[in-house]
Amino acid sequence: MNYRRLGSSGLKLSELSLGAWVTYGGQVGEEVAVKCMSRAYDAGVNFFDNAEAYADGNAERVMGNVIKKLGWRRESIVVSSKVFWGGEGPNDKGLSHKHVFEGCRNSLKRLQVDYLDLFFCHRPDPNTPIEETVRAMDDLIHDGKILYWGTSEWSAADIMRAHGLAREHGLTPPQMEQPQYNMLHRDRVEKEYLPLYREIGLGTTIWSPLASGLLSGKYNKGVPPGSRATLEGYEWLKENVVTPQNIAKAKQLEPLTKELGCTMAQLALAWCLKNPNVSTVITGASRPEQVNENMKAAEVAGKIDSSLLEKIDSILGNRPRPDRD
Ligand code: NDP
Repeated sequence: MNYRRLGSSGLKLSELSLGAWVTYGGQVGEEVAVKCMSRAYDAGVNFFDNAEAYADGNAERVMGNVIKKLGWRRESIVVSSKVFWGGEGPNDKGLSHKHVFEGCRNSLKRLQVDYLDLFFCHRPDPNTPIEETVRAMDDLIHDGKILYWGTSEWSAADIMRAHGLAREHGLTPPQMEQPQYNMLHRDRVEKEYLPLYREIGLGTTIWSPLASGLLSGKYNKGVPPGSRATLEGYEWLKENVVTPQNIAKAKQLEPLTKELGCTMAQLALAWCLKNPNVSTVITGASRPEQVNENMKAAEVAGKIDSSLLEKIDSILGNRPRPDRD
């Protein structure tokens, strides 16, 4: 496993990491989570991603139990959570000082840890001034509850605003973003955030590298039973992701796996790893076998050269173009 710096920070994250969305505490229980997490850890994964919203807090409970059960040294792992969707009450959501403080306190309890390494604002909150959120995050850092804070799916302009406010008031600026990034979804990471990597040393912990599984090729011959697209509450995947156009692209990419001697999932994950502005690719897995397969993507990345990247670009046809002056 290779380790990459989280942007300009000194923190090192395994380039492949593991997240809990949909899966742990929801689609599958603790027995499966133990197997997936321990296989990832044994392969060198040090970053485990979570959020207060995942399975209404159950994903954090499960990950917390697993971390405890496996007796991992706290120093050997990087644990995250995200705040935004904490519950139904008017102050159980958003990025007010109150909810950021209480959301963090509740996540720490569920994960059974004293501090979070990374804490993300899960979305922008139009109803809270950015300065209030920056101050709340800075307070948590000074209280020793979190080490680094960042955003998820914020615009480059809002990230720069948060950064500027922090600098102006002597507060801690955001260090990382958690955007969606995969072969089908490229603009933010490859274009919108481009100046931020250079100017503020932004790190990225990217999500849905397989587009919820579609880029593993598993939907090429129809929707397999038990897959994410069959789960209650995820019907939108069939409308938005498992579309004939996306499946056609997945099918066109398939022959490239023969050249590389890899699986489709490994190719799609390796493609994300080729972007040097990606600090870590957060994988998801509902089965331990998927973890085994996905963790080999790092070796595949070493075999992808620029001519293959061009071939992939010509199939995808979605490479972001720079703006003209
Ligand atoms: P992926 O796009 O990689 O999808 C993972 C899913 O694809 C698995 O749960 C599994 O689903 C299927 N899969 C994985 N590996 C394979 C394989 N080798 N072969 C076949 N199927 C496979 O990632 P996620 O969408 O799960 O996102 C990863 C993480 O990113 C999340 O856990 C979360 O931590 C984070 N995230 C953050 C978001 C944010 O807003 N900040 C939003 C979404 C995710 P199945 O077997 O059920 O079909």
